[in-house]
Amino acid sequence: MPPPRVLAFDAGGTKLLGGVVGADGEIERRVLRGIAGLTRDALLETICEAAEKLREGAPHVLAAGFGIPSTIDRRSGRSVQSVHLPFDDFAFGAEIEDRLGLPVAWDNDANAALFGELRLGAARGASEVVMLTVGTGIGGALAFGGRIYRGSSGAAGELGHIPVDSDGPPCQGGCPGRGCLEALASGAAIGREGATVASAAPDSALGRAVADGREASGVLVTELALEGDPGAMSVLELAGERLGAGLAGIANALDPEVIIVGGGAMRAGELLLGPARRVLAERALRPASERVRVTAAELGEVAGMVGAGLAAHELARGGERAEAWR
Ligand SMILES: [Zn+2]
Repeated sequence: MPPPRVLAFDAGGTKLLGGVVGADGEIERRVLRGIAGLTRDALLETICEAAEKLREGAPHVLAAGFGIPSTIDRRSGRSVQSVHLPFDDFAFGAEIEDRLGLPVAWDNDANAALFGELRLGAARGASEVVMLTVGTGIGGALAFGGRIYRGSSGAAGELGHIPVDSDGPPCQGGCPGRGCLEALASGAAIGREGATVASAAPDSALGRAVADGREASGVLVTELALEGDPGAMSVLELAGERLGAGLAGIANALDPEVIIVGGGAMRAGELLLGPARRVLAERALRPASERVRVTAAELGEVAGMVGAGLAAHELARGGERAEAWR
């Protein structure tokens, strides 16, 4: 008998990362495909082509796992609202099972990433865990008793859409809210704040870079902040403080052991996490404010793929928790 292997995929807004994953989360083969702007049919074809490519070297896979950037209604088995991919109101799991001829474990991408961190990353051994993924937007996931918490319909964990400022700017990506954490502390928000600082301080490194034609993005702000530009550092400090205000609310509501922060914005590291920890400690109630650990994710960009792979192994093994992934 060959050792058990599964296919695993993490579909982001612009790229699909896939691999063959072993039972302990080891990645044996990888594929990367650009998927920005594809129609649903073209995206499904790309997934199938990538799966075929992976199966050439792993013909005996038992199942496939997927993390997708969408809210999910487990009662109907459909992905409901996906900001970046054409998966609105779509029976994703059934369609993919049909196309691949494999049992498919699937979930929101943040849930998949948290599952990876629970098993192999920053939440190993923890029971009550909150994860935020700070990128263009802010995703979130929750685990209680060491198990992913999905809410009454499957859509829980959208922590980026907790209001931090009820009169704040309109949120993005189809969210009807205002002043959500995502509107104030995401990569997109960091870019907007960066543009403001660039025009207010044209002689700063940030101001000069923007005058030279670079986009005032979260990536640029982070790059210059890591080089020590005070203007860029102040933008990250403000975003970190806003993140901390959101984390204080989360800590008060849920009293987690650990809050994990991942996503592309974590290239900024302590420049973002330091102010977030400080504001959390100042504003949350005791004992949560003293007890909760705020830490960077450990698995990086493969967290979602590894988590989806471990979920697929769970599904293939069967047992009590397996069906929760379908
Ligand atoms: Zn929102």
